[in-house]
Amino acid sequence: MGAWRSKVLDAGAFLNSTFFDYGDAMTVPQVLDEVKIKSAVVEALLNAGRIQIAEPSEKSVKIVEDVAKRMGEIGKLSRTDILVLALAYETRRELITDDFHVQNVAKEMGITYEPVTEEIKKKIKWVRRCSRCGRKIPESYKGSRCPYCGGKIIYSSK
Ligand SMILES: [Zn+2]
Repeated sequence: MGAWRSKVLDAGAFLNSTFFDYGDAMTVPQVLDEVKIKSAVVEALLNAGRIQIAEPSEKSVKIVEDVAKRMGEIGKLSRTDILVLALAYETRRELITDDFHVQNVAKEMGITYEPVTEEIKKKIKWVRRCSRCGRKIPESYKGSRCPYCGGKIIYSSK
């Protein structure tokens, strides 16, 4: 497919002034809800028909969730982040995002992405760990406290 294809933007990308470099954009309704109250530019682009609004299928959403869970990133992503990833995945479009966790999952899924201001340096594997005893807690465990000592469960990168 050619360079004419619109790119998928997340909220951060919309709120960045360099948005104009990308031409037409595509995103999920939830992102627009977040940004249109903050940005008169986005409002004007919407009115001009330069923003395509689309929703990913539940199947794509599930695929993103599964990858994010496996990577230990699921707790770092908002519902909107997941929808944006699913849309880029499903439409095979480039994703514009500065969010480190969104970039990390995109990289794992083979979604091409471009940062607005930051660049992803390396892939970090996040694990759930007890902040008191340091034990690794499996993703399947649903509680918010360590089953061994009752300490708070946190995400850590190793
Ligand atoms: Zn513990």
